[in-house]
Amino acid sequence: MTDKTPIIQSAKARAEEIVPTLTEAQVARIAAYGRARRVRRGEVLVEAGMPTARFFVVTAGQIEIIRLSGATEELIAVYGPGMFAGEVSLLSGRRGLAQIRAGEAGEVIEVDREHLLTLVQTDSELSDILMRAFILRRVELVARGLGDVAVIGSSHCAGTLRVKEFLTRNGHPYSSIDLDRDADAQELLDHFHVTAADVPVVICRGEVVLRNPTNQQIADCLGFNEAIDQTQIRDLVIVGAGPAGLAAAVYGASEGLDVLALESNSPGGQAGSSSKIENYLGFPTGISGQELAARAYAQSQKFGAQLIIARGAKKLVCDRKPYAVEMDDGQRVSTRTIIIATGAEYRKPSLDNLSQFESAGVYYAATFIEAQLCRDEEVIVVGGGNSAGQAAVFLAQTARRVHLLVRSDRLAETMSRYLIRRIEQSPAVVLRLRTEIVALEGDYHLERVRWRDDQTGNIETRDIGHVFVMAGAIPNTRWLDGCVALDAKGFIKTGQDLSQDDLAMAHWPLARAPYLLETSLPGVFAVGDVRGGSLKRVASAVGEGAIAVAFVHQALRE
Ligand SMILES: Cc1cc2nc3c(=O)[nH]c(=O)nc-3n(C[C@H](O)[C@H](O)[C@H](O)COP(=O)(O)OP(=O)(O)OC[C@H]3O[C@@H](n4cnc5c(N)ncnc54)[C@H](O)[C@@H]3O)c2cc1C
Repeated sequence: MTDKTPIIQSAKARAEEIVPTLTEAQVARIAAYGRARRVRRGEVLVEAGMPTARFFVVTAGQIEIIRLSGATEELIAVYGPGMFAGEVSLLSGRRGLAQIRAGEAGEVIEVDREHLLTLVQTDSELSDILMRAFILRRVELVARGLGDVAVIGSSHCAGTLRVKEFLTRNGHPYSSIDLDRDADAQELLDHFHVTAADVPVVICRGEVVLRNPTNQQIADCLGFNEAIDQTQIRDLVIVGAGPAGLAAAVYGASEGLDVLALESNSPGGQAGSSSKIENYLGFPTGISGQELAARAYAQSQKFGAQLIIARGAKKLVCDRKPYAVEMDDGQRVSTRTIIIATGAEYRKPSLDNLSQFESAGVYYAATFIEAQLCRDEEVIVVGGGNSAGQAAVFLAQTARRVHLLVRSDRLAETMSRYLIRRIEQSPAVVLRLRTEIVALEGDYHLERVRWRDDQTGNIETRDIGHVFVMAGAIPNTRWLDGCVALDAKGFIKTGQDLSQDDLAMAHWPLARAPYLLETSLPGVFAVGDVRGGSLKRVASAVGEGAIAVAFVHQALRE
């Protein structure tokens, strides 16, 4: 027997995945989770900007998906019998981006969000069809900028870059207006009574105007977290939603735990800023960190995990049970167990004015967004490890020249062989060993860099406006404030790495030793980059997130 699925699928096949037509038997299975009801022509089923709490399948007539922009309406899609409305916001319960309206009188099956989640968790055939369509529809909206947010800013402005990255990494579609290029931008600023000094300006759902907002303000305006109950005691709170935290969320929720994850920025963590992960199992042509994170996020939502965005953990309340995690807005969430997956941050060179140029010429990630900013220009990558090598090879595809500055006299021993070969073979990459940056110069954006060759002592000045810093990591453990034992570099000690002294100091109360990945605090686990001795790879972070959940079950039984 041969598999009859053609390897190369047509555009038509993709269109059918975005707008599939369900069979009668499939519609009947969905009907068991909801109720059939008549609709009138023109009846609004879901208002744009309202929390998405209902899913609709058409059985007679037509429903339309309409994007409202001021007084104008834009028809995004029309669904006939056997088709269904909805995209990923249905899984999270966030506000919908468009209005759903009956284009003709007819009949729909209406399913509430709770029952939809049960359906996708139990019916694997329908889960495939619905999840694929939801995700592809969101991808389409993002690609076409069909959202409820407009960002008015400048590509030379650090705040604009931050806001765009936040929206992109949260998979939220937006349109953008560049003050430097768009002749109509001034008119728009006047219309909303804002000035160029306020940029970036974010116009949220066509009505709320935010001037240089924080990520938290944007999340609040778009209602990212409003469907989440923060008062109940959870089985498991996960702090950090990088690969390790997302894996723990998927495994925990799919195994029936009541899971809440807290993320101070956007899902995906460091991996989310990686242009291409080439060594993650199952993706022979590589996968961008953003895509991996988006898939993992949707998967965690499918199983019912909840994720609070743009709220960091500020403090662990560890002197009583249930434990509590205090967020930076002062709110607390209580929980029986915790998985700490807060990762690490890049080490920064000690240059006085570094922060002045952050995102205005100095970057800690090399994704497509940054690559576009320095197309055909010279760039510098600082660091000798894997992420520096990867950034250099990636940027070499679009930049005129990449200077890879390494402080020591060779590339790190931990750098993968394939990367070393690519660096050696790429004519655009110039490897500069024993070289470090000594000064950054520029008015608003970085314009010049001075570097010193430590072998000769020579200082060279180059007109280079883009520096990518990829020089080692500092663990995000400050917020733990003595609650768990750390190693000399501040990474969390777990399992057998905890000595008798560590356990005595922490007043370990149990007769058993800590489980694998358990910290010096019972029921509190650490996974991924934040854990001492971890591998600093996506695959190992994901593996640890999954393994920790097995021990969470045991801790919950104690
Ligand atoms: C540019 C780049 C390229 C890379 N390429 C590869 C690759 O090709 N292959 C590979 O295997 N690895 C790669 N890595 C390494 C890999 O990304 C990391 O090992 C992996 O992301 C670690 O996952 P993590 O979940 O442990 O931590 P992180 O990815 O660091 O995620 C931690 C999360 O916790 C959040 N957080 C931090 N503090 C708090 C707090 N107090 N409260 C709430 N949330 C908090 C952060 O915002 C972040 O989202 C790359 C890294 C970078 C930066």
